[in-house]
Amino acid sequence: MQPIPFLDLKAINLAHEAALQAAFTEVLHSGWFILGNNVTKFEEEYAKFSGTQHAVGLANGLDALHIALKVLGIGAGDEVIVPSNTYIATTLTTSFVGATPVPVEPRAATYNINPDLIEAAITPRTKAIMPVHLYGQAAEMDAIMAIANKHGIHVIEDNAQAQGAFYNGRPTGSFGAINATSFYPGKNLGALGDAGAITTDNADYDKKARSWRNYGSHKKYYNEVLGFNSRLDELQAALLLVKLPFLYNDNAERERVASLYDEHLRGVGDIITPVVAENATSVFHLYVIRTKKRDALQEHLTKHGIGTMIHYPVPPHLQEAYKHAGWKQGQFPLAEEIAETCLSLPIFPMMTNAQVEQVCAAIRSFF
Ligand SMILES: *Cc1c(COP(=O)(O)O)cnc(C)c1O
Repeated sequence: MQPIPFLDLKAINLAHEAALQAAFTEVLHSGWFILGNNVTKFEEEYAKFSGTQHAVGLANGLDALHIALKVLGIGAGDEVIVPSNTYIATTLTTSFVGATPVPVEPRAATYNINPDLIEAAITPRTKAIMPVHLYGQAAEMDAIMAIANKHGIHVIEDNAQAQGAFYNGRPTGSFGAINATSFYPGKNLGALGDAGAITTDNADYDKKARSWRNYGSHKKYYNEVLGFNSRLDELQAALLLVKLPFLYNDNAERERVASLYDEHLRGVGDIITPVVAENATSVFHLYVIRTKKRDALQEHLTKHGIGTMIHYPVPPHLQEAYKHAGWKQGQFPLAEEIAETCLSLPIFPMMTNAQVEQVCAAIRSFF
């Protein structure tokens, strides 16, 4: 049996080898590497893809979240509602700007923030809600937007894992006032290095984000705010332009893999397979199962040459980096339970049906 990697990034990118090399050659010969035609073109195409008026190319997804908060003027004394069950980026950026992250538990079925629990977490200091479309599934955006509008607070979507997903027919990354995404190599749309973007319908936010990414300046050597250097490279933009047209097809391939897993893992041991909420779609950035025997199963699969990962082993509130916040073990029990039982199985567009069946056979042999 051939080993099966968790993610075959080589195959994903070599599928576009000639076009990626041509794009590199074009940038090399242009002699223009920062903020040029490729970034502008990619921003236009990515905005179109996201169903927004504007997109701003940035250095990575963490900066995109950070700059979104800066654009909205969120800072010290403010509170931001974040999912208790998320990659730490969402929580970190809230802390970067001096605001307080307020975690809210997910729905047990979908792992996305539970809108029924958001209102109880809102205080007079709450300035924004940052829903994450976790593992590729759109969060319940209609309910989240209704709560935000009722209380006059902003929504900032973290769309790093769900490019191409929809809620009620509308693309993720198009609901919030200003939204962030990442093109880290392993995301559904991955660069060959770090990259990210902001999407928004608001022309003023677009203009401000462009200033924040470039030293707080619109006019060279005239600085309006204490800005960052977080520009998307011309080279990464050119490579992303090659890959973007294939994203819908790649997402459909991931859905194929996910439904095959669903079919083969139904009723196996105590496995819980992913549930996609009514009105939501998932682009299956990750295929996450849960089992009480997670660690033993992972070891078994490793022995059978099958790559797996855990997203994520420690929820943000229990990270050492947040010791100062005073959060306690047991304070967000659902996030903790997910961390203890979740296992991400291999999933990528080129994965064959035979490979999926090989993974499932190894899982069945464990139980
Ligand atoms: C990857 C990711 C980010 C951050 O992206 P980087 O480009 O790696 O900084 C933020 N949020 C979520 C949910 C992610 O998965």
